[in-house]
Amino acid sequence: MQTGAVPAYSASIMSIYSPPLVSLTAQGLYCEAGGFYIDPRGAVDCAVITHAHSDHARRGSARYICAETGRGLLMERLGKRISVQGYAFRESFQMGRVRVSLHSAGHILGSAQVRLQHDNEVWVVSGDYKRERDPSCDPFEVVYCDVFITEATFGTPRYVWSKLPDHGRDIYEWWNIMSSLGKNAVIFGYSLGKAQRILAELYPYARKPVLLHRTMAGLTDCYRAEGKLLAPTVDLENALDESEHRLTGELILAPPSAVHQEFAQRLGSFESAFASGWMLSSLSQSSSRYDRGFVISDHADWDDLNRTICETGAQRVFVQHRKGALIRHLRQQGIDAHSEDFLIPEKYKRLGGRALSLW
Ligand SMILES: [Zn+2]
Ligand SMILES: [Zn+2]
Repeated sequence: MQTGAVPAYSASIMSIYSPPLVSLTAQGLYCEAGGFYIDPRGAVDCAVITHAHSDHARRGSARYICAETGRGLLMERLGKRISVQGYAFRESFQMGRVRVSLHSAGHILGSAQVRLQHDNEVWVVSGDYKRERDPSCDPFEVVYCDVFITEATFGTPRYVWSKLPDHGRDIYEWWNIMSSLGKNAVIFGYSLGKAQRILAELYPYARKPVLLHRTMAGLTDCYRAEGKLLAPTVDLENALDESEHRLTGELILAPPSAVHQEFAQRLGSFESAFASGWMLSSLSQSSSRYDRGFVISDHADWDDLNRTICETGAQRVFVQHRKGALIRHLRQQGIDAHSEDFLIPEKYKRLGGRALSLW
């Protein structure tokens, strides 16, 4: 170097290896630096819970952390005596050596993505999410990150649906048609999330109460307690008793587990519908068992999965629940994409470092 020459500080790309901030263990996703699990498969000391669905929120952990708006649902599901701390969306808090915050996932009430920051690295665990409008919960927030662990329930190109329908109006029209035929309209959908979303979608339309299966009542109360505007409801059992089983022209919401002969006989003359993203699949068992389907999904479709991954700016992506199509597609876009089992520390090592821009 010449004396007095100015060293060049141009951008350079360097590959830096650091162990995974979130690793995959027998108990599920684990953040060692923060001392907590995310949606653990069993009982642990500290569980950060993305949302209250049973494949994410399980009993037995000593301490739970979740979004404040999802706290009531978690207690409804896991028991009032659990130790649970709720945080507002975007409020950051320290867990061990990691800065953590929860961000709306738009999946069901209180559903959260988990953002973890350690040194200069940011990871986001998506949990279940969707981008569509849903009046029963906060909208999805795009969170910039280096590494994104994404769910991919509908991670193949055949799952693409229109985001335009007004589900409330569609259901209300179907209800009216059934009514005019002297029939009841029965919608089967999951007790947590789907039932309350349908009630929220119906809120601008419903002129009389929807009859609600008893298993959905407590969860629906949690939504009302969080200020969500839902169509009025009455208890289905009471309505059946009072009408002496001669209901007609009613809209009834019940879980798929209620579909059995005795239940059906008590409902009198009715047509049934199932509400789910799975209604798009002709192979779905559900599509043949019901008179019609409403494609109402609480997960992102193929287009929204890809759009979301792109918008996070993540250089490295781990895909949960599904392999194959999405990973291949992301790699074609130049994204370093892998299945979640590459979060097992020994396998993660094989991926080498991430490319970092150093200035
Ligand atoms: Zn879920
Ligand atoms: Zn799930």
